Amino acid sequence: MKIGVLALQGAVAEHLRMLEEAGAVAVSVKKVEELYDLDGLVIPGGESTTISKLMHKYGFMEAIRQFGEEKKPIFGTCAGAILLAKQINGQDDYHLGLMDIKVERNAFGRQKESFEVHMPVAGVAADYPAVFIRAPYIMEVGESGQVLAKYEDKIVVARNGHYLAAAFHPELTEDTRLHKFFLDMVKEYRS
Ligand code: GLN
Repeated sequence: MKIGVLALQGAVAEHLRMLEEAGAVAVSVKKVEELYDLDGLVIPGGESTTISKLMHKYGFMEAIRQFGEEKKPIFGTCAGAILLAKQINGQDDYHLGLMDIKVERNAFGRQKESFEVHMPVAGVAADYPAVFIRAPYIMEVGESGQVLAKYEDKIVVARNGHYLAAAFHPELTEDTRLHKFFLDMVKEYRS
């Protein structure tokens, strides 16, 4: 299984390490041509507006939309979840607009810029360590989607078909269970 990590900005190396530990071959993706032989893609956290600008600049918007439309799994973490979303609260536009979720940016307030909690994630772990850094939350998940975790009543992990979104940074601990869950999704969709 070969998984790419979009490497324009953000937490790339950490995702590569976690994916390898979870049993995949992981490669960083800096050019659209590098998407073609991948089985799945991770869009990391960072700054969604910056990553979006670079995606436009290097032709990734259309290329990743096509990747998603071919039913290849995509995992968006933190800024990556914002990039995947069909709706961003308070904004008319979206970035990729692939996953049927509505997100709100910087949802946990200034006093809680970053924090770590343990929480149950359905189908993944009873005590998953989640690191939040200026995290968004998921306000709504489309009809066919599933809510996998909530924190303070806010949705923080959701799946919709071959798309997975987490509001936190799953690559910043030693716990590979969410990456393994994503690899299982990739297996499911691989023809
Ligand atoms: N606040 C960032 C954004 O809106 C996301 C933060 C993160 O990825 N850690 O893009």
